[in-house]
Amino acid sequence: MKPAVFIERDGILNLARVERQHQVSPLTLEEFRVNEAAVPLLKKLKAAGLLLVAITNQPGFSRGYQSRRDLDRMHDLLSRTFPLDDILVCPHDEIDRCPCRKPKPGLLVEAGFKWHLDLDRSFVISDKWQDAEAARTAGCTSLLLESPWVGNVHHDFVLPDLTAVVEKILRLRTARRAVAA
Ligand SMILES: [Zn+2]
Repeated sequence: MKPAVFIERDGILNLARVERQHQVSPLTLEEFRVNEAAVPLLKKLKAAGLLLVAITNQPGFSRGYQSRRDLDRMHDLLSRTFPLDDILVCPHDEIDRCPCRKPKPGLLVEAGFKWHLDLDRSFVISDKWQDAEAARTAGCTSLLLESPWVGNVHHDFVLPDLTAVVEKILRLRTARRAVAA
């Protein structure tokens, strides 16, 4: 069983516009801005033997303003830019009451089955509380970036930037290996 790093898409892998204190997901490739600074950091995680899975809520599907074609084009670009093993999407709206819309842990659980992951040794990176809550329910360690959306739910670490998050994960990995040995 392998450990993974789950990475929220909007705000971590791509830049997200902020309107009225909320992040707005890009809907087309033209609007989509990859966070280039994250590329070498994800490569470090990959080199450390971690599986990398992007996870994203895209309710625009159910609400009718996000097309499959545009989403595929954005995710093709993500796959070409980052060493991602998978990109998992919740296409549902709040009212669908699905098990995969974060803060529910469905995307993490699904990836766990699909990739035979050890969720207890896996990590979640985000700038939003919903991912920390999904991590807690699934048994993963959550690392949040300081942001207006950290909220009051349980999280394991809040750090100033993605560099600090990646260094923390690599240190935790080393410490766990030492304990296991
Ligand atoms: Zn869903």
